[in-house]
Amino acid sequence: MTKLARKDILQITPYLPGKPIEELKRDLGLEQVIKLASNENALSPSKKVVSAVKNGLNQLNRYPDGSCYYLKRKLAERLGFNPANLIIGNGSDEIIGLAVRAFLNPGEEIVVARPTFLIYEIVAQIAGARIRYVPLKNLRYNLSSMADAVTKKTKFVFIANPDNPTGTYVTEDEVRLFLSKVPPGVIVYFDEAYFEFANFAGFPNTLKLINKRNIITTRTFSKAYSLAGLRIGYGLANKEIINCLNRVREPFNVNSIAQIAALAALDDRQHLRQTLKMVKEGKKYIYKELDKIGLKYIPSVTNFILVDVGKKTRVIFNKLLKRGIIVRDMRAWGLNKFIRVTVGTMKENKKFINALRGLLHR
Ligand code: PMP
Repeated sequence: MTKLARKDILQITPYLPGKPIEELKRDLGLEQVIKLASNENALSPSKKVVSAVKNGLNQLNRYPDGSCYYLKRKLAERLGFNPANLIIGNGSDEIIGLAVRAFLNPGEEIVVARPTFLIYEIVAQIAGARIRYVPLKNLRYNLSSMADAVTKKTKFVFIANPDNPTGTYVTEDEVRLFLSKVPPGVIVYFDEAYFEFANFAGFPNTLKLINKRNIITTRTFSKAYSLAGLRIGYGLANKEIINCLNRVREPFNVNSIAQIAALAALDDRQHLRQTLKMVKEGKKYIYKELDKIGLKYIPSVTNFILVDVGKKTRVIFNKLLKRGIIVRDMRAWGLNKFIRVTVGTMKENKKFINALRGLLHR
């Protein structure tokens, strides 16, 4: 059957998501399982969201509003833009795909860091693009080498900021210098899925560049707003770019419940504050305990942490699974010594730390 497939897609390694809780329960016959593997929000969505969603269920016989009118208007108002600068996606993932579909011609190239979030590479492979990889430097994006990797054929540079899986970020100064070296015909894509967590000195404000250059900035409701299950994210760019993205978008790409939920989520600032507090306190606790255990980690501006477990990554990953704790084994990213753990509730963080301590002191 694969003989019939396009050659380009046979090169693709399918994206491997974190193991679902139910799957681990089934596989190992466990009753208690916690998932700290997909950088989700450990808090349920806000009550306001749940009640708005319930009210919306009666309308499921209708197609959603394909233009996401109310959500775009609300985001535009809040961020100081025109709705024509916005696109809503079925997760911010979808917008990455739309961008490549709309702009990448056969034979063109993209520049990505290695390792980083895998979707850039996957959508570019689907489009048959050549990919130029630029290694991280000390587990940070090396924007100066990424600028050097741009050629006449480059259409996109993708920048996950903050980055997944490292949890590190590039600064305003680094971005300014990078943009000064990159020609205007290259679209610079800032993937800010973890933006809300990254309230750190020098984090760039890419929105002020939106109407000045060809850049796309995307953010999501999956993380800080607890809506990963509904798939909804948004992108900002100049009107010409948005116009092109709309041409390749499916007419009803964002379902009606996701739109209702996102609108309600934007109104619940208390839920966002609670999330940020949980993540901040969770990271502080995990850092302190890892220090005591004597394990190194990469300080993170996101809701997840890379932990250096030495040579025993696979063993530790599997033993944590047996104890009902799902984290990520980072060997597939070439980060052989690391597991990645998402900050959970304090109860979950403690369970993780206690299990890890137990495994190492055997
Ligand atoms: N970008 C990065 C860097 C991510 O880590 C993720 C989610 N894992 C996404 C984008 C996709 O998020 P969404 O749920 O909005 O598709």
